[in-house]
Amino acid sequence: MSDPAKLLVAEVLSIGDELIHGSNLDTNARWLANLLELHGASVQRFTVVGDDPVQLESAMRDACTRADLVIATGGLGPTLDDRTRDVVAAIAGGPLWFHAPSWQLVQDYLGARQRPVPASNRRQAEFPPGATVLHNPIGTAPGFRLRLLRAELFAFPGVPREMKRMAEDWLLPHLNSLPSQQPVAQVCLCVLGPSEALLGERIEPFMVAGREPAVGITASGGLLTIRIVGRGRDAAAAAAACEGTAVEIRPLLADWLVAEGTEALHVLLGRRLLAANVSVALAESCTGGLLAAKLTEVPGISAVFRGGVVAYANEAKTDLLGVGAALLQQHGAVSEPVAAAMAKGAAQRLRARLGVSVTGIAGPGGGTPEKPVGTVCFGVCLDGVVTTWTRHLPDLGREFLRERAAFELLAAIFRNVPLPAETGRGAT
Ligand code: AMP
Ligand code: MG
Repeated sequence: MSDPAKLLVAEVLSIGDELIHGSNLDTNARWLANLLELHGASVQRFTVVGDDPVQLESAMRDACTRADLVIATGGLGPTLDDRTRDVVAAIAGGPLWFHAPSWQLVQDYLGARQRPVPASNRRQAEFPPGATVLHNPIGTAPGFRLRLLRAELFAFPGVPREMKRMAEDWLLPHLNSLPSQQPVAQVCLCVLGPSEALLGERIEPFMVAGREPAVGITASGGLLTIRIVGRGRDAAAAAAACEGTAVEIRPLLADWLVAEGTEALHVLLGRRLLAANVSVALAESCTGGLLAAKLTEVPGISAVFRGGVVAYANEAKTDLLGVGAALLQQHGAVSEPVAAAMAKGAAQRLRARLGVSVTGIAGPGGGTPEKPVGTVCFGVCLDGVVTTWTRHLPDLGREFLRERAAFELLAAIFRNVPLPAETGRGAT
């Protein structure tokens, strides 16, 4: 058990009008939070603030009053709306000072690229009183750090690539040097099947606020992840704490538990197919290639992924996959017999052991009382043996239905296709 009082409280302050006007998403905070958490800090708040000096000063003052460690990104550019350095100087109570070596580096950086050196860039060599200059090897804006109110403040450029480099060069060594740092470990259990609410009920006793290790659920792309985060005197103790909770939770999940780790389902599936060396071909209708796009994100998948056919029109199903015109006529394109023929056709024509298919009504038009929008038929053909099933997904819009249908199929393959070469996990 750890003593929460020893936690290093961290906050991330993301600065820039583009972030609050909705044109850019704040991705820096997420990246930084991951880094901070894994290195023993407890991130308690993100703040996103624009370039307005009054707003910025109050956000900076508040963050540095609440937290032991504040990471600010953005507002270090050369223009007048880049005000991080001015606001910090105002809070620190002194004028900016000029750091000649930084100015030289800015000139050298731009000169080496045959770019002019505007006088306004000189601002980037000005720093608040007490600041230590942090070199930025891949851009013109140096960062800085200083003690401000309760916090150790690190100010980095907003450009994600530069921010990451600066965090690795300057923040990581700081985190690693802290005596109070408590190593953190995490175990992630990937769950498929229940709703988030149902899963929450099942593991409710573990989710009380303040529990150590902390247990939380996140939902992403249809997969639920139970994240167990533990701390300890050293890395081994932190890992043992997580595992102690994991062994209690696993039996409660039974066959909902499909994997462990932080990977997305299509990555897990790709790995599984690769490990079992099962070749795969796709026949997609309503998902329009989404499944193929997901599978081809997996590095090395070419060893098993033969290809996919987006067969949208009936004629394409017939011409490209050999689905009988009579079958289409008799049952309709969204039917289990057609899903079966598509899966079989994909496997045969692309010479794969495993053919999978999906055909559904994504709306908004095209629904009937028997087959409303959201009706999706799936087919799996493994070594010539075909399985089909139908799902009635909620009609929450075309995009949702297409994504959901692709996910259902991924999940179905993952859980239900027996992979003979694999050991340790049978088909359900
Ligand atoms: P700045 O350092 O404020 O000049 O930011 C430069 C550019 O970096 C912005 O125009 C954005 O494109 C990007 N950027 C700034 N802050 C963030 C952030 N928190 N997340 C993602 N991108 C950002
Ligand atoms: Mg900016």
